[in-house]
Amino acid sequence: MCAGWCGRNDKPRTFVKYDPKICYEQPAAARVDKKEYDDKRFRALTGENVMSLIVEKRTARTWEMKEGDLCRIKIIEGPQVVDLNFWCKHQPKKERFYSGKTRQLHSSHLKVYDRLWSNLPYLRPMATMVADSINYGIDSDGASLHDVIGTRCDDYTYKLITGRERRQSCHSQLVDAVTRIGLDEEDVHDVWNVFMCTGFTRETNQYFVKPTPVKKGDYIEFIADMDLICALSSCPQGAVSKPVGEDVPEQECFPIGVEVFRETSKS
Ligand SMILES: [Zn+2]
Repeated sequence: MCAGWCGRNDKPRTFVKYDPKICYEQPAAARVDKKEYDDKRFRALTGENVMSLIVEKRTARTWEMKEGDLCRIKIIEGPQVVDLNFWCKHQPKKERFYSGKTRQLHSSHLKVYDRLWSNLPYLRPMATMVADSINYGIDSDGASLHDVIGTRCDDYTYKLITGRERRQSCHSQLVDAVTRIGLDEEDVHDVWNVFMCTGFTRETNQYFVKPTPVKKGDYIEFIADMDLICALSSCPQGAVSKPVGEDVPEQECFPIGVEVFRETSKS
């Protein structure tokens, strides 16, 4: 047997088997005081409803929050996933949500009391998740909700896959929304995929989706840990039950409710 110059005919290498180790020991700043956040949630929800808006299907909207405000994102008609972006209100061109480091500090899918972190060199908590009416957990395929893995659907990747031009994606919707407040396409960044049911295949580690299990009335809540600009896209893939490239009928997309609550003394 001749060992090829590229090593193709070599025997497969064997590797020492190590046990997995959690890569990032969670820093104290990533572990919130649960009672403190439960109290913040109570004070906000028993305070004032300072903003309500409907993000119509296949659109995106922006809104602002003060530090301490609570935001509830609610399924108001049918199963629908949403893509969220966050910027520091006082320096939106510099400081924004960092999904990759959030994934490393917490996990691939966020759960109650996990935090959303900003980019380097800031690396500050931007928000903390405080409620999840669905509580899906991790299913037998390793799938879970609210991931910080996927980046957002976009028309550039759609064209790579299908060869077709299109302008109807979370990216294009977010671009339209942020342009109205003086930000640019380059300010749109990797998202928090709220309500989306995703995981990685065991065999190939490929990103997969399942239709979201959410129902009318379901919601998540987060508390702002700094003054924020938020953007939400009601995904034109609806419940995300089809792979990228397959068209989703409009009647399978739904609007989303957004409400912001503030502790009374802070108004
Ligand atoms: Zn989308």
